[in-house]
Amino acid sequence: MREGILVINAGSSSIKFSLYVSNGDDSPLLSSKGQVEGINVAPHFIAKSPDGAVLAEDRWPDEPGLSHEALFKHMIGWIESHLDGAELKVAGHRVVHGGSQYSHPMLINDDLMVELEQLVPLAPLHQPHNLAPIRALAKVHPGLPQVACFDTAFHRSNPWVSQTFALPRALTGEGVKRYGFHGLSYEYISRRLAKLAPAQARGRVAVAHLGSGASMCAIKGGKSVASTMGFTALDGLPMGTRTGTLDAGVVLYLLQQKGMTAKEIETLLYKQSGLLGVSGLNNDMRVLLESSEPHAAEAVELFTYRIARELGSLAAAMGGLDALVFTAGIGEHSPPVRARVCHLSEWLGIRLDEAANADGDAELISALDSKVAVWVIPTDEEMMIAEHTREVLWSLRD
Ligand code: ADP
Repeated sequence: MREGILVINAGSSSIKFSLYVSNGDDSPLLSSKGQVEGINVAPHFIAKSPDGAVLAEDRWPDEPGLSHEALFKHMIGWIESHLDGAELKVAGHRVVHGGSQYSHPMLINDDLMVELEQLVPLAPLHQPHNLAPIRALAKVHPGLPQVACFDTAFHRSNPWVSQTFALPRALTGEGVKRYGFHGLSYEYISRRLAKLAPAQARGRVAVAHLGSGASMCAIKGGKSVASTMGFTALDGLPMGTRTGTLDAGVVLYLLQQKGMTAKEIETLLYKQSGLLGVSGLNNDMRVLLESSEPHAAEAVELFTYRIARELGSLAAAMGGLDALVFTAGIGEHSPPVRARVCHLSEWLGIRLDEAANADGDAELISALDSKVAVWVIPTDEEMMIAEHTREVLWSLRD
């Protein structure tokens, strides 16, 4: 019997699913994917085949208040009637925070749910939305094994110096430390690079995950040793609408001198800053690259400058650099951004093959005389969750 593996990635306004089918030892095969989006505004369900053909679509224009749970049930109903001859055996969830303790995916039980609830204050914008579908699925499918895959888990191998803020120890003990995020993406890239270039994957690798959320990770000997995101996903690189690294004194200034509330500051730092804030135009890199506005060009310059500076910092954390990988929306699709970062990083021995960089399909984009191999590798966090989830399911049978 072919086994169905359901992957759920839930946020505040959307719930995404990917359904995989596994025959045995090969990688799980994507069978369909889709999402409910526009939750609380104009709910819209869409399901697609792996090649992008629309399989189903529903809208509820007159019912903006439909709950997450009701929409999730609708989605599960569609999935169950499109299992393609497979039997649903397990579900894997992307859960943003696994705290200090979880360095691996975990089979979900009541005790784990209590622990994950306790981590909500560390990720209030994401964790509650990640946990809600776990409860909803347990109601519809009691007994179906569910697995939590954490964005923080891959970084638990970071040495203490990389995880610690120079704060009094009591606060560190409370959990105010650097966790790092995008771990499922970095783990996937690390496994892919191990197939493409095993010797490099065993060396010192920096990965730049440049999507609407953006971060970088230093991976040494296959293990994360440092990353640019910290206590929250606000740290590090400027992003579509997030500031990235900010002198904490700016937050004090906003509070004390400008009288802003915590909520107003949260909105400023998460939603109004980054590429959008600097350009005053848009958070989408495509729009900025096409624009002739000077502030759009400055936003791109600041973004690439910060990536190059962080690359130097990550190389320092690893004692050198053997490979650089670009991934996620901007990393995979933007030759100009990759070119600027590589040119700023020539001091590290990076030499770009300009033609390979411009060619949309090339995986290796460094020149032959480059001391550092530069790759473009598409990430697939859902596949990583599917593989982890299947491994946990199999471990139950041993
Ligand atoms: P998310 O973090 O939401 O998963 P993605 O990894 O899909 O995001 O990246 C989305 C971003 O990728 C978009 O905001 C856009 O700026 C950027 N992007 C996508 N295609 C291109 C492109 N061809 N050139 C430049 N940027 C692109």
